[in-house]
Amino acid sequence: FIELLNRVSVSLNQPKYPKTVKQQYSPEEIEAGLRNHEFVLHYQPQICLTTNKINSVEALVRWQHPKDGLVYPDQFISVVEKHNLIELMTQEILNISVKESSAVIQSSLEVSLSINVSADNIIALSLPEQLKALTDKNHLAPHNLTLELTESAVMGELTSSLDVLNRLRMKGFHLSIDDFGTGYSSLQQLYQAPFTELKIDRQFVSSMLFDEEAMIIVKICIMLGKMLNMNIVAEGVENLETLHELQHLGCNFAQGYAIAKPMAVNDLIRWAEQW
Ligand code: C2E
Ligand code: CA
Ligand code: CA
Ligand code: CA
Repeated sequence: FIELLNRVSVSLNQPKYPKTVKQQYSPEEIEAGLRNHEFVLHYQPQICLTTNKINSVEALVRWQHPKDGLVYPDQFISVVEKHNLIELMTQEILNISVKESSAVIQSSLEVSLSINVSADNIIALSLPEQLKALTDKNHLAPHNLTLELTESAVMGELTSSLDVLNRLRMKGFHLSIDDFGTGYSSLQQLYQAPFTELKIDRQFVSSMLFDEEAMIIVKICIMLGKMLNMNIVAEGVENLETLHELQHLGCNFAQGYAIAKPMAVNDLIRWAEQW
């Protein structure tokens, strides 16, 4: 294990696939779109690699733009975060997803729901109470809701975020560390915050079959997650070979185009009936 760690420690500091960020919408346009309820959610299923059953769905936001059609998060999330719109957006997403999840549950699909949250959501001290009130009102058990946080979301203001994370956990919500391995202090956060799930970043998963270093990182994440008694999710599973290898390596859950792309709620229900 230590040997594996040493072999990747150098390459971890040099991201191979830097993110590019387009910014083409103004905060005013985005805010108007949010207030007009133009944002929608697509859901991507996550399957259990032991039972092959659908375990949960991740809600991914899109903007149904009146002129430009469906706009993806890389074209607005950074503006949303920079201009104090994330609380408004997260409220909107929570309202939509909690309501839509009742439709999913009524379709007799027993799955839990994962939501992405940003740094500013996690320092809002009333978040645990707000979430509890919302899930109670919509008959969703807290253990069926997972909040996905990236490492940078927690790092901003560590003390207040830890307080909020601990209170969320005490109320029964699950916490997932998203894009694991891409931030700067993953291990410190695993150590300090009450995460129950580790999501291996897709840059490692999608290249693990042809890139030895990516494979090592995936193996380490699985070992680490197991030793810390966490659920391990591989995201960005693009083909069946990768899916089978992850199964073989003891990864718990998988998500990616090999299983399904993110879909609107009605398509998700239809898809799940065929699965
Ligand atoms: P993420 O949380 O890492 O979400 C996974 C992204 O990978 C999604 O992109 C998904 O469509 C994409 N994906 C899923 N399977 C595959 C695959 O097999 N191959 C490849 N190449 N990609 C795959 P999407 O929907 O464009 O979202 C991008 C990011 O935007 C998310 O990354 C998340 O950080 C952020 N985001 C999305 N929805 C929300 C939201 O409601 N709130 C917040 N705060 N952030 C969100
Ligand atoms: Ca996520
Ligand atoms: Ca992710
Ligand atoms: Ca990612």
